[in-house]
Amino acid sequence: MSLDIPALQASHPAALEFLARGDHPMLLGDQWVAALSGEWMETLNPATGTVLGRFPSGAAADVDRAVQAARSAFESGPWSCMTPAERGKILWRVGDLIEQHIDELSELETLDQGKPIWVGRYAEIPGAAGQFHYFAGQAPRIEGQTISTSINYQPAGKQVFAYTLKQPVGVVAAIVPWNSPLVLTAMKLAPALAAGCCVVLKPAEDTSLTALRLGELLLEAGLPPGVVNIVTGRGDVVGAALAAHPGVDKVSFTGSTQVGRAVLAAASGNLKKVTLELGGKSPVIVMPDADMELAIPGAASAIFFNSGQVCVAGSRLYIHRSVFDQVVKGIADIARGMKLGHGLDPSTQIGPVVSRKQADRINGYVQEALAAGAEAMVGGRQLGPHGTFIEPTLLVNVSPDMACVREEIFGPVVVATPVDSLEEALALANDSIYGLAASIWTRDLSTAHRAAALLKSGTVWINCHLMFDASLPIGGVKQSGWGRESGQAAVDNFLEVKTVCAVI
Ligand code: NAD
Repeated sequence: MSLDIPALQASHPAALEFLARGDHPMLLGDQWVAALSGEWMETLNPATGTVLGRFPSGAAADVDRAVQAARSAFESGPWSCMTPAERGKILWRVGDLIEQHIDELSELETLDQGKPIWVGRYAEIPGAAGQFHYFAGQAPRIEGQTISTSINYQPAGKQVFAYTLKQPVGVVAAIVPWNSPLVLTAMKLAPALAAGCCVVLKPAEDTSLTALRLGELLLEAGLPPGVVNIVTGRGDVVGAALAAHPGVDKVSFTGSTQVGRAVLAAASGNLKKVTLELGGKSPVIVMPDADMELAIPGAASAIFFNSGQVCVAGSRLYIHRSVFDQVVKGIADIARGMKLGHGLDPSTQIGPVVSRKQADRINGYVQEALAAGAEAMVGGRQLGPHGTFIEPTLLVNVSPDMACVREEIFGPVVVATPVDSLEEALALANDSIYGLAASIWTRDLSTAHRAAALLKSGTVWINCHLMFDASLPIGGVKQSGWGRESGQAAVDNFLEVKTVCAVI
């Protein structure tokens, strides 16, 4: 467990000011409130184990209040009646404010989640701003259709005129995980708000800080009170109450497949609309003709970025046997050279994972695999003063039935298997309950595009991995989820189609 972690502090004045408050109430309407029970939860810095602050431990009664606030804003408030262009302007301002606060938000995210500062500063926080900017532009593009019908029983001399309206679904519960808190929150809020919905947001209990800071920025941008409400607390309390609440019209959930199932069951009471962005076990296929200068660092970053806590992390490598040794050695060399450390140290490449509980879970998978005969080409240890660091780990000698190959580990652990053909690689890649993303590395155009068609996943990357943009739909097939976020169609997740049929 020996790994010295200095007690680095935030340096941005606004981050310091936010942290100095200690207690961070939740948002109901335009009021910052404690839970009705008066109970609070602590949030820890996973690198050092120090307490960063407290947030309310909400319960079902707090969820009731938040749903009421959202409902009354939706039914009577200005948001759903505002012109789409006005909504778009406010969303654009939110994007601008996130950009203006990028250093502060990156520091808060690193302290709360553990991620290296550059992950937030250059990828996730700009990604969150990008979501608001993109969906600001989508708000005025919501369009129904006029429809030519074949109805032939209208009165003589009359005509049928039919069209569709797209209207906001109503009150949305947005439930978010802890791996990339702000950008995943933005991926829900921006399209929901563009559609004219009102939201109750439930951030993950390990990482609620940036969601609460975002709440302040939303109000500063001019979002009317009640349009976004934030209830913090435990998932099996606040999340479960939201998923079951009869006043919620739609649940937009991102998290594990296991909890996704529970959300779906709870949502069935009033048959809420549900979208689910769930787990993954994404394959990375390396063909012998790949450009190895791209493929080897690309495959390494596909799994080690954000300590592997990425739903689309490339966690299963299928490498053509003729280049297997070269590729695994290359990835192992990169892993060996990676610097583990406090996320606020700009030279850190691998931060802690989000919590000791999560680190123990990841380590459990690694030790089980080693005991079953897998070999660690590199890594394999849990480190740090609080046991929250996991060495970047590459396992070989694995078989398709091992848990480390089949289950989502959600840490910096990749398994590598040699294959003799593209067909074998595709069959193994598709042999999973998950289908979130995949990548193929080859210089051959037909290999690349044939694989893109045959891989059973929501996204296929060719000669790249982890390429995200607000314009690119993301989501899964099989047990990786229902629906897509990002991209033009994401607004439709929050719209109902109404048919209007008139005899004129
Ligand atoms: P999780 O499922 O444990 O929790 C996700 C959220 O659900 C949290 O806010 C949690 O508090 C809440 N929750 C917990 N129990 C609940 C319940 N019974 N009812 C309602 N809500 C409940 O997931 P996690 O561990 O926070 O995040 C990691 C998982 O998220 C991984 O499986 C990862 O693949 C997935 N993920 C998916 C995507 C995607 O786009 N597909 C993106 C990021 C993360």
